[in-house]
Amino acid sequence: MDAHCLFCKIVAGEIPATLVATNELAIAFNDISPVAPTHLLVIPKAHYENVGELTREDSASLVAMLALAEQVAAGQDFRMVFNSGAGVGQSVFHAHGHVLAGRDFAWPPG
Ligand code: 5GP
Ligand code: ZN
Repeated sequence: MDAHCLFCKIVAGEIPATLVATNELAIAFNDISPVAPTHLLVIPKAHYENVGELTREDSASLVAMLALAEQVAAGQDFRMVFNSGAGVGQSVFHAHGHVLAGRDFAWPPG
């Protein structure tokens, strides 16, 4: 755990969040500022700065996150987004995937 990390504090229960699903290595919770009718975040319980570091160091947690994404989408079509780096909008530096569903999505993304 990184003592200064917002999402580590959510994993630890120190900051409240609406948990939707969990497994051994990952949790899914509602984004506090949703941009779609369904907008969840899936994150590893362990701290990695971004999805690249997670992939290199702990592929089991990455698979666990993807399993939760599939579960919480509940059969809907969904879009999954990993912002990796401040230059593309990453604002929380604990790896996370956005699971978005329930409306139309433009392609290519804006
Ligand atoms: P990023 O911009 O890093 O890809 O995504 C970070 C996401 O975390 C944003 O969509 C933001 O709304 C969400 N977020 C930031 N702080 C909190 C919080 O305290 N609780 C929850 N549930 N989501 C948060
Ligand atoms: Zn963290």
